[in-house]
Amino acid sequence: MITILINKPEFEYDIHSLVKAFYPEEDVKVYCGEEAGEGMVFRIDFEENGMRMRLGEEAEEEGAWEECAADAGRGERKNVLKQLIYGTLSEHLNKELPWGTLTGIRPTKISMGMIEEGWTEEEILEAMKRTYFISDAKGRLSIEIAKRETEILSSLHYKDGYSLYIGIPFCPTTCLYCSFTSYPIVSWKKRVGDYLDALEKEMAYVGETYGDRIVDTVYIGGGTPTTLEPEELDRLLAAVYRYFDLGRVQEFTVEAGRADSITVEKLRVLKKHGITRISINPQTMREETLRIIGRKHSPEQVKEAFALAREEGFDNINMDIILGLPGETQEDVRYTAAEIKKLSPDSLTVHSLAIKRASGLNQWIEKNGMAALKNTDATMGIAAEAAKNMGMEPYYLYRQKNMSGNFENVGYALPGKYGIYNILIMEEMQTIVALGAGSITKRVYGDGRIERCDNVKDVALYIEKIDEMIERKKRLLLNG
Ligand code: SF4
Repeated sequence: MITILINKPEFEYDIHSLVKAFYPEEDVKVYCGEEAGEGMVFRIDFEENGMRMRLGEEAEEEGAWEECAADAGRGERKNVLKQLIYGTLSEHLNKELPWGTLTGIRPTKISMGMIEEGWTEEEILEAMKRTYFISDAKGRLSIEIAKRETEILSSLHYKDGYSLYIGIPFCPTTCLYCSFTSYPIVSWKKRVGDYLDALEKEMAYVGETYGDRIVDTVYIGGGTPTTLEPEELDRLLAAVYRYFDLGRVQEFTVEAGRADSITVEKLRVLKKHGITRISINPQTMREETLRIIGRKHSPEQVKEAFALAREEGFDNINMDIILGLPGETQEDVRYTAAEIKKLSPDSLTVHSLAIKRASGLNQWIEKNGMAALKNTDATMGIAAEAAKNMGMEPYYLYRQKNMSGNFENVGYALPGKYGIYNILIMEEMQTIVALGAGSITKRVYGDGRIERCDNVKDVALYIEKIDEMIERKKRLLLNG
């Protein structure tokens, strides 16, 4: 346990995130005031012309000091504070973090803003290293991706159009690390029809309200949409076409994530409805790991599903893998990368395992500890190299809280096979109207302001309260 005592209620969230990045295995608490701290204690005092951080509860030693003008803006004060924490802990632990003081999920947004302002690459890199203590490699990666994203988005009317997300919250089983809205399909089979009824009601409302806008991309995710039966999928996709004009849609993705949910009949339904991109996600090609993480399919099933999808004519297939899975070594990652290379997907999304509070992984860690969950520079490098060898380039990047090794998730794709929706949602460039249980709609205004509204996660409640979900959307979409 680590306690941080602060003398003013400010930046608690940022302090927590950065300290946690240094101590991923510890419970970190931030308190304001004079409470006694539990476990290892750090003290941060905001003073008139700067901030001081001490290791230890008592104010005996001087501690580290950073100057900050009394009239500095909030953004500058936050940067100085994070530099102070980073400098102190990095010296104390003799440890560097690849992303430095950046704890937010969208580091590329910073590079993108600077590109738009006309900064050169070298100027951006220098500024990121100086302000955020980011490593040279991560700085270069974020600039490369920001440039690519800017180019990809230049052909899109993302400011006037919008994208549509539809969540299908069912999966064959629940993965160990899952924190999404997902329920085992066996328990919900009889209510899928009710769920689709509710979804159609939401679709009808949005289709009518936003009827004059261009739909740029559609993404059906979850969950695993292909847990639906072929006729249910058919009904869902037909409804999308009924309620929305997809005449100018650039990309229509359906996640077919779990190999054990894919059949030739379902693939044919997807094809019939013009799905342009699917995702078949092995996460790892090691049978033993698949068993540990609760995915009831084999690597062989992944290969079969992939071959089937190619046979049915899908020419844009993504695969997801996760680094840092229980017990996996560099050798395992190398093996997974080699097996994936044999399949030749069109894009590869490389995730660093994230430990989410709502997932079963926490119980697993309580029992087995953290030692078996290792993601390192070397494993990240193996995945990046594999993507490069398949001719792919990095095109989007995001981070999550509590990621193994403090790394990132990176999407790689062959030129022209980028997942446009992924960029739009990660960079918050466009309004995304999200339908279904647990989904979050984000409205992006012309001045960059963002407002959200969410749907309840519980499937039964979503079905029951569908009119209220629509009311929430109405307030957001028709506001101003
Ligand atoms: S497939 Fe995805 S949504 Fe489904 S249980 Fe696994 S992690 Fe969760």
